[in-house]
Amino acid sequence: MDLQLLKKELQYVSHKVYQKGFTQATGGNISVRIPGTDHVLIKRSGVSLGEVSIEDALIVDMDGEVVEGQGKPSKEIGFHLGIYKVRPDVNAVVHCHPNYTVGYACLGMELPLPTVTARKLLGYVPVAEEAPSGSKELAQYVTDVYVKNQDIRIALMKDHGVCSVGKTLEEAYNVVDLAEATAKQAYIVSQLRAHSKAPVPN
Ligand code: 13P
Ligand code: ZN
Repeated sequence: MDLQLLKKELQYVSHKVYQKGFTQATGGNISVRIPGTDHVLIKRSGVSLGEVSIEDALIVDMDGEVVEGQGKPSKEIGFHLGIYKVRPDVNAVVHCHPNYTVGYACLGMELPLPTVTARKLLGYVPVAEEAPSGSKELAQYVTDVYVKNQDIRIALMKDHGVCSVGKTLEEAYNVVDLAEATAKQAYIVSQLRAHSKAPVPN
């Protein structure tokens, strides 16, 4: 396994999340399992996803202890590791704050899925309960949603953001990309419906 390549991928996907506007300031964090080990690469706490370098990719064990790298791991390490423990099929986790999706998360609504693409690829998008960022409670609530819904690819986090998963970082990124487009489309649909006489479908 080329660790340098995996660090570069974490850097690349971090920059993409920020450049696409899926998070702001120093919000958001990304992690990926290191194949063939019990270790995970995770972003250093407090660094903007737009500025992440390969030195900001810390290696941690499944207890959250830093095995390699300087600084503290992301404060959301609890739900990253929690998800890896309950979902062996998951190798990458992306947490960020995309605007339209966060709108639905603030209402505590499951994400509406108005398109066939969203229904096929996202399936069901539940909401994890609210708790302060970085808290043990938040780690538990997000992990609980992934325990309760074994097939989901993304969950909303009440009043906060989203947490997506994938077999690869690219896959977890694409799920966020599709979820944010879907949230924007759902918002447009709700506005058009409110201003038209179209009957509400069942
Ligand atoms: P970190 O900088 O510690 O990763 O925190 C960012 C964040 O989004 C907390 O929810
Ligand atoms: Zn956050």
